[in-house]
Amino acid sequence: MKNKIIVIDPGHGGRDPGATADGIYEKDLNLNITARLFILLKDLGFKVKMTRTDNRYLSLGDRVKIANDVNTDIFISIHCNAASSNKANGIETLYYPGSDKGKILAGVIQHSMIDKLNITDRGFKARPDLFVLKYTSMPAVLVECGFITNLEESELLITDKYRNDIAAAISDGVGEYYKKIK
Ligand SMILES: [Zn+2]
Repeated sequence: MKNKIIVIDPGHGGRDPGATADGIYEKDLNLNITARLFILLKDLGFKVKMTRTDNRYLSLGDRVKIANDVNTDIFISIHCNAASSNKANGIETLYYPGSDKGKILAGVIQHSMIDKLNITDRGFKARPDLFVLKYTSMPAVLVECGFITNLEESELLITDKYRNDIAAAISDGVGEYYKKIK
């Protein structure tokens, strides 16, 4: 795993808060979870780069450029979900259709999260319309870590335990991915 470069991308930031609910901003949750993931992946021996490390605005093109400019091996974007219904819940991992390695990575990350967390499994799904999945040139996934519009999940998302658990599950999934593809 040495020399593998992983770019991790906290969704939104700065003037783009992402989803908001009851004073919770998606951009802050994404950054917090990604910072935890950064430490865990580094501990596994990867070279890890975050697209942003503070509350700043980055366009989707900026994020893709950061990933594509270096010799990035995989790209992981971290988001939280929102819906008009407060009943919508669960976690899901998205990949670009036709990316075989993206699909493998999404599958192992999703399974790892479902194993570790007591939360609804929305599955891993091909999504053609997500910019950062479409235009990155390496296997890429976007993880939706739960719904901030669901009371139970927003209460989880603000705890250290849930943030640590989800970061650990994603990190374990990455480890699985490298076992699987070699
Ligand atoms: Zn988002």
